[in-house]
Amino acid sequence: MSQLYTSVQYVKGVGPHIAALLEKRGIRTVSDLILHLPCRYIDRRRIASISDTPVGKERTIIAEVVTSGVAFLGRKRKRIFEVIAKDESGCLEAKWFHFNQSYMPKLFRKGTRVLFAGELTEYNGMKQFVHPEIEILGEDDDSFELGGCLLPIYPLTEGLSQRLLRKIVKNAWEKYEKCLLNPYPNNFLKRHNLMDFKKAVSELHLPPKDADFDLLNTYRTEQHHTVIFTEFFFLELALAIRKASIDKEKGLSFEFNEGVYKSLLAALPFELTSAQKRVIGEIKQDMSRVHPMNRLLQGDVGSGKTIVALAAAVQAVANGYQAVFMAPTEILAEQHYRTIAAIAEKLQIPCALLTAGVKGKMRDEIYKGIESGAIPILIGTHAVIQQDVKFAKLGLAIIDEQHRFGVIQRQALHKKGVKPDVLVMTATPIPRTLAMTLYGDLEISVIDEMPKGRKSIITRIYKDSEHEKLYGGIRTELERGHQIYVVYPLIEESEKIDLKDATEMSKRLAEIFSPQWRVELLHGRMSSEEKERVMNEFKSGKVHILAATSVVEVGVDVPNATVMAIEHSERFGLAQLHQLRGRVGRGDAQSFCIMIVGGRLSEESRRRLNIMVETTDGFKIAEEDLSIRGPGEFLGTRQSGIPEFKLANLVRDVGILQKARQAAFEIIANDPSLGLLQNRLFAEHIKNSGGVEFGKVA
Ligand code: ADP
Ligand code: MG
Repeated sequence: MSQLYTSVQYVKGVGPHIAALLEKRGIRTVSDLILHLPCRYIDRRRIASISDTPVGKERTIIAEVVTSGVAFLGRKRKRIFEVIAKDESGCLEAKWFHFNQSYMPKLFRKGTRVLFAGELTEYNGMKQFVHPEIEILGEDDDSFELGGCLLPIYPLTEGLSQRLLRKIVKNAWEKYEKCLLNPYPNNFLKRHNLMDFKKAVSELHLPPKDADFDLLNTYRTEQHHTVIFTEFFFLELALAIRKASIDKEKGLSFEFNEGVYKSLLAALPFELTSAQKRVIGEIKQDMSRVHPMNRLLQGDVGSGKTIVALAAAVQAVANGYQAVFMAPTEILAEQHYRTIAAIAEKLQIPCALLTAGVKGKMRDEIYKGIESGAIPILIGTHAVIQQDVKFAKLGLAIIDEQHRFGVIQRQALHKKGVKPDVLVMTATPIPRTLAMTLYGDLEISVIDEMPKGRKSIITRIYKDSEHEKLYGGIRTELERGHQIYVVYPLIEESEKIDLKDATEMSKRLAEIFSPQWRVELLHGRMSSEEKERVMNEFKSGKVHILAATSVVEVGVDVPNATVMAIEHSERFGLAQLHQLRGRVGRGDAQSFCIMIVGGRLSEESRRRLNIMVETTDGFKIAEEDLSIRGPGEFLGTRQSGIPEFKLANLVRDVGILQKARQAAFEIIANDPSLGLLQNRLFAEHIKNSGGVEFGKVA
């Protein structure tokens, strides 16, 4: 591998301490550092005096600190940090409402020259910045800092300063520039409107003097375009290669058994929706081909994915193979088992449930049945099935991911020596753009229609002080014979406290509603027997109010439940809220989702919750979630398997993604092993970077 992938410690100016700070930002190698690109720029080409600078956005002023300190604001005596600074033309004020008390006073000593950048406003006749970008200008400023230039601002981490980062990036660049290769042949550059990659990177660190400032700050320069395209391109290339190799593999070819399909339909208490039928058709085609199926089944909560998966499973069984359903939690596995067993029985197909809770002789028998083939359909949790089970003839694996993303699990299955068809079900309506990058090697089927007769769920935001109103509503619904969920967030870091709060909440509910109504608490620390008992009692209607923490997937199907009340709803992500809401509205009655908020809401939380009120369309919610929180957060960060990009943004840069994807897949379609002369550079690049540079693929 190239020197670019050596540790960042080899860069001049980076010792163990700074290396550790950089690591926090995910910068480990020289390449990471060189490709750590500015997130914005400050225009220092035309810095005017305080009096000559008009109010407005993106202003930059250099001034000298006159005084600074903590001040108290308003009746509540809120603390703020204030700086007064001057130049020859006048004074300005800078304010921080959030600040580090020990750090700020040291920074703004009297006489220090500071560059302020941000939105300039006027307040009481004084020009002012609120939370400006700042740059402390020292005596020893090099020309980089002083010359009229576009000053790059890098994403930082605590303990690193802009100046330090600029310096070490510069050092890295000087020493390792020669190792950075342009990965594209010339005609490719022309065709895709790209510039020389190296030049693009260099000019993003240090933009040319005549660069367009607005384009720079909106990631729209040709330099940005080139780097963003590159990030997407190599990710997509890797996906295309993987897909091509899967397509080449020999797998099972199933013959569609019309008779079995008909008897399945006859066993259902409802008609399939046309979306379900269409998707079954897509799966049928895929299963009949000789290469392994690798399909993602997307469908909103309640859209009826289980039946579709079952339709595929019975086909595998009709062909003499086994099928396995893998669910993320025991409760969900049990739920699938109940649904499936009821229907499979009518078709005389034996099936079994395997979870951690199944023990002793029962467990041994299930193992035996699977190994002999006597059990054609197995349902269980991901963990259990991956670890212990030997199949006689596994033909189809159905992986229910809910909102988790288990690219790895899929691979683990492939490694079991067999090449079963794989159907991954997800209830998170992943926006297409994301599905494309994440699951670029999968075919995608979407159930985009809800079963008939589903009423839309009335969704409201209640303040903490409106609990009485909530309890009134709950009582009305109970009296109508319906059931209630009350969910409490459980955040890992404060799990103990949360659990205590959740327990108290359930006690309070019991005080209010018993003895007429029964309240039970369900949480992740309970044993599986206990969980099952509570779930079963809720399902059978013996328990009326289920108070649950969010670590428990409330992935249950209780059509009689009509209220989903979510405490501290501001602490949940949109996807999770949507999941929770999907637990009600499954029957004929009107259902409600009440999101209770504790305390003041941030702008972002308010926006999020309002989206929930406005729409029940999972795809729309997912798109919004993605744009508010960014892809990493959206998917629950790191473990999600989603690549981390340096500059690219899946929302902003969809257009580029599509082009890069097309380019990559075209190349692989014509040259799957990248053996052709014109594609040598790509192969070289992948080899050199070990496939790690852009878009790490799990
Ligand atoms: P999800 O997509 O969330 O996994 P399920 O498969 O659990 O959804 O289905 C939700 C509920 O809708 C179940 O009770 C199921 O029996 C029912 N259902 C599925 N398909 C239909 C349909 N076409 N018409 C009516 N009800 C359906
Ligand atoms: Mg489901």
